Amino acid sequence: MIRVRFAPSPTGYLHVGGARTALFNYLFARHTGGTFVLRIEDTDIERSTKESEEKLMESLLWLGISWDEGPDVGGPYGPYRQSERTKIYREHCDRLIKEGKAYPVYAYPEEIEKIHDELLAQGKPPHYSEELFKQFDTPERRKELEERGLQPAIFFKMPRREFVFIDIVKGKVAFKEGSIGDFVILRSNGLPTYNFAVVVDDMTMKITHVIRGDDHLSNTLRQLAIYEAFEVEAPAFAHVSTILGPDGKKLSKRHGHTSIEEFREKGFLPEAFVNFLVLLGWSHPDGKEIMDENEMIEKFSLERLNSSPAVFDVTKARWMNGVYIRQTSIERVTELAIPYIVKKGYMTEEQARANIKWLRKAVDSVRKGVETLEEIPEKLAVYFKGPETMKLSIKTEEEKQVALALKKIKERLDELDSWDHKIVVDVIRNVIKEIKPDRKLFYHTFRKVLTGMDEGPELVEILYLLGRNKVIDRIDRAVG
Ligand code: GLU
Repeated sequence: MIRVRFAPSPTGYLHVGGARTALFNYLFARHTGGTFVLRIEDTDIERSTKESEEKLMESLLWLGISWDEGPDVGGPYGPYRQSERTKIYREHCDRLIKEGKAYPVYAYPEEIEKIHDELLAQGKPPHYSEELFKQFDTPERRKELEERGLQPAIFFKMPRREFVFIDIVKGKVAFKEGSIGDFVILRSNGLPTYNFAVVVDDMTMKITHVIRGDDHLSNTLRQLAIYEAFEVEAPAFAHVSTILGPDGKKLSKRHGHTSIEEFREKGFLPEAFVNFLVLLGWSHPDGKEIMDENEMIEKFSLERLNSSPAVFDVTKARWMNGVYIRQTSIERVTELAIPYIVKKGYMTEEQARANIKWLRKAVDSVRKGVETLEEIPEKLAVYFKGPETMKLSIKTEEEKQVALALKKIKERLDELDSWDHKIVVDVIRNVIKEIKPDRKLFYHTFRKVLTGMDEGPELVEILYLLGRNKVIDRIDRAVG
């Protein structure tokens, strides 16, 4: 049974890299019928916040990434917050001490630092060993620590030999003999270090595959050694390549928006954003770009993870979002656009709901030309604001004809009993036949009179959606 996890530290927002890691884990679990675990790695008590944890979960759920076990839903291997697992780490640590695979260090932090500096000064690699710390393990020091209520830090005895593993993405990875020395697994405050907590958690939560960013590749050495110390087979690892910005540097704030929250606010559809994310380091077997969640689940495999870095191209993300805005049901797009329309002050939420049929048609008439939901109200300005300068220039013969035609249209529309699409179109056609204005100039002027813009939705749509009063009023103000 496959078990994977996403293990964010709640120290900020969910960003593109984390979301992609979560997505790959989620898709792998769904594809294989396995279990997806959410674990909160909050041992950095200074930087971890409850608010960040909530935001992370909210962003994941917005993307449609749900978990089977986690701090909120529980599960058989909880608790799922590292801060609630200190007893488990302590017990595992004690076992390693008992077996001679870890040892307490009675030195103070300054003394440990001094050893480090001395080794460097002697031109040696700064690798700690039990030998180096022996001098501090005296009955006096033990007593002193006890009196001060301090606990010794626990160091792990790092075997001095080569470690090799086969990464699903990177292939064979070898860590040379003696590349690191002993390292802390439990701090003197009783909290575990990252590498120790991760191994104990992955082990006790029965994780079978670790899919994470390749910035963790070097940590795998320490983790493999700890698995070995527990005589447990390590999970399979898939280290996914880094995401780069368009300039080839690691994606960061410098490249603009990187938090999921920001993309949500900008008006990305979650399904579009997930589609964009999945292609950052994975590809569909047939090279398909636009695909829904079911297809991603069906086709996902770790073998298709790309070992070269993915480039984050926001232009592509916007393009893809535009595709989704056009292909998603108008009911859903309108629903998602309402908050942006309300924010712009065009309608209240109640007005939007009371006029939902009209609004859907209006959104439908503008969605061709937008890439984000945020752009929808800008385009809807046609219906809500109208043109600012109204008076037309009526000098040349052509302009006079156009003005005359518009006046006639106004009079006839005024007399209509109903605002029927077909009848309105007929009125315009007939007037054109009678007056014979220059067609190009007529249509352009008519559009300008109604919207103040040179382009936009189809003229008939504009007429229909504006309604009689606004159409008449706008013609009136222009040709008066
Ligand atoms: N808490 C780690 C991080 O946020 C998780 C690393 C891992 O997946 O092992 O990067």
